[in-house]
Amino acid sequence: MIPRLKPSLGLSEVFAALRISFSNDIVEFENAFAKKFNAQYAIAFPYGRTALKFLIDCLEVKGAEIVTPAYTCVVVQHAVKFSGNQPVFLDSSSDSFNMNLKNCTSPLINSKTKALIATSIFGYPIDLRDLDEVKNKFGSQIIIIQDCAHSFSATFDGTEVQTQGVAAIYGLNISKLMTSIFGGMITTNDSSLANRLRAQRGQEISKPSLLKSLSRFLYLIVVFPTFYEPIYGFINWLERKGILNRFVKYYDEGKIDMPSDYLTGMTPLEARVGLANLKKFDSILRRRRINAEYYFSNLAGIDGIALPPRVEGATYSHFVLLVKDRTWWLKKCLESNIQLGKLIEYSIPEMTSYGAAARAQFPNSGYYSDHTINLPIHSGLDVAVRTVALIKKLAPLAPK
Ligand SMILES: *Cc1c(COP(=O)(O)O)cnc(C)c1O
Repeated sequence: MIPRLKPSLGLSEVFAALRISFSNDIVEFENAFAKKFNAQYAIAFPYGRTALKFLIDCLEVKGAEIVTPAYTCVVVQHAVKFSGNQPVFLDSSSDSFNMNLKNCTSPLINSKTKALIATSIFGYPIDLRDLDEVKNKFGSQIIIIQDCAHSFSATFDGTEVQTQGVAAIYGLNISKLMTSIFGGMITTNDSSLANRLRAQRGQEISKPSLLKSLSRFLYLIVVFPTFYEPIYGFINWLERKGILNRFVKYYDEGKIDMPSDYLTGMTPLEARVGLANLKKFDSILRRRRINAEYYFSNLAGIDGIALPPRVEGATYSHFVLLVKDRTWWLKKCLESNIQLGKLIEYSIPEMTSYGAAARAQFPNSGYYSDHTINLPIHSGLDVAVRTVALIKKLAPLAPK
């Protein structure tokens, strides 16, 4: 079965994990990461959401409102809550999955607003002209944080989005563009902020035990073969039966929480894996862009399927189509051994834990949350070719 996502982990990551090291692996990973993504400093954390919480703390934003996308990964809002702030929401645009920064107006923005999490969802670069407008209008009142979990090095008109804010955060779990098994990162050019982040990390993040390293290693060894096609069918069956929920469910509809080990440091083993995976980043990105181009060229003009925007500089962390009946598509493709994803399948303001807003308040985000399917974009072109063939075969039968 073709999986909906697949980390680009290979023997080099396994060897890196096993290597006995006498250097500071975390520092080496941070330095290489900073260099790769054109920042002065990079600071590693156990998760992207931990990184975000520490970043907000170190920016001394507390008891304030922070502008976030209605359509993003909900762990972002959890981190905002854990930092002692209130997330407020911007709907997506009607022609882009990204938050519509043109709607940064009163009363959403008010005297309590202190930060904005500019997010390039699915790797689509956030509109930096709109972001400049926000900066011009509100100046230093609103601190810009870049969420680059989907958009490592995405560019808007040639400018890398991660450089357009006080700092950027990244997630590094196996579903991201690149991975250190778990993990998160902050990049910034602000030396004082970097120092504060390191100091607070030193105080509040505990040293990972050998047991944590061992469990991360076991996770890597299990993940490594899992995504190979012959095995993945079985794994998918386990997932459907709910047997893997403990591993694959990252949120709970009614709950605002963080993982139990969110304050236990990244292991040196993860840093070595991350460093090995970072070396593949250019080829990972190239492969995704080639697949995306193939999908754009071969899925155009099919009745009942809306293609995503084709944007120069996007990283295509996900290739997202809009269809009428998502459940039908997921089921039919699965029957032919292609697993599609349904990310992101919620609109955060509609969730009970974030206010249960009516659909009409965030219509675009709500619409996307019901109609997206993600195509596999992680492997060689052969996977995209097989996926296109199946979609073309199924399209005439799909509910319209
Ligand atoms: C994955 C993700 C994060 C943070 O990731 P962690 O799972 O906490 O490492 C942040 N923002 C977005 C949009 C994400 O998809």
